[in-house]
Amino acid sequence: MKEGYVIDTSGVPNESELQQINKLARRSLSADEVFVFSVVLCDNEIDRDFERFSNQALETMAKLYVGKTGIFDHSMKGRDQVARIFSCQVEKPDGQTTTYGEPYVRVRARAYMPRTEKNKELITEIDAGIKKEVSVGCSVAHTLCSVCGADRKQEPCEHQKGRSYHRKGKDLICHHILDGAADAYEWSFVAVPAQRGAGVVKAFSNQEKGGAAMDYDSVMKSLTTGEAVTLSAEQAEQLHSYLQNLQQIAKHGQDHYEQLLKDTVRMAGLVQPDMKGELMMKMLRGLDYAEVCQVNKAFTGQMDRLFPPVSQIEAPSQKEVAPVADFDKFLI
Ligand SMILES: [Zn+2]
Repeated sequence: MKEGYVIDTSGVPNESELQQINKLARRSLSADEVFVFSVVLCDNEIDRDFERFSNQALETMAKLYVGKTGIFDHSMKGRDQVARIFSCQVEKPDGQTTTYGEPYVRVRARAYMPRTEKNKELITEIDAGIKKEVSVGCSVAHTLCSVCGADRKQEPCEHQKGRSYHRKGKDLICHHILDGAADAYEWSFVAVPAQRGAGVVKAFSNQEKGGAAMDYDSVMKSLTTGEAVTLSAEQAEQLHSYLQNLQQIAKHGQDHYEQLLKDTVRMAGLVQPDMKGELMMKMLRGLDYAEVCQVNKAFTGQMDRLFPPVSQIEAPSQKEVAPVADFDKFLI
């Protein structure tokens, strides 16, 4: 399962492939107008997340991926829909077995892209083997424990992915079997090497719950599972406005904090005239918000003592001034 990869760049479609392509294309394309290649989308091998697809899930995915669009880096901006899968099949390459001893099975897709000026560079890169890796997004109904068979989405079990368990005289590495493929999303060329090893990009968990309103908890939960996530355009938009909103709130908080620092320094100039403003600011910046609030409160107290509110009609002689000794306990 890992990420998928381009395996064949023969380039020119045969007659029956051209028919399949033209079922999906907006206008009838001729063989020399399209570039075709093969991609292995997923397989039944255990990936680095200790997960694998069941053979049944692969069968379903082969059907779900027909017509799906391939893009760059799961980019949701610009929607550069560069390639499209026109046929997909489950195949068993001769004699290959998985690490757990079963026949190796993979989903192999045939994809096409129009030979346009815009796609020229990408076609060259795919042809040259530079754009080799792809990642695919999908959602599954069941995540089964390979040791006890429990559906981890319904019932937790004590087995942990990647750990070894002794069963029926054998040591088994626990992995999760992704079963009941429910939906297939876009697939994309992975241009950034850092994304390699991310494995098959699982669907953003929010999607599986029918795209419920995105809140802080669900976002954080999805982003901290230690697994790669992919977002639909709609979810990316939701996340974007959510972050924008947070940014707005953070900006208000920052403005308030800066004002608090300024006010505190201004008061310090009055109650601690010997201390330079810059030094006070430096000290305050070393404190956290709650501590700055405390200092501000202490200075406010001193200000009230030093400069008590004076009534307009009050005689100056009645003005109370706190004794100097009292200030000592406020000195920093
Ligand atoms: Zn288990």
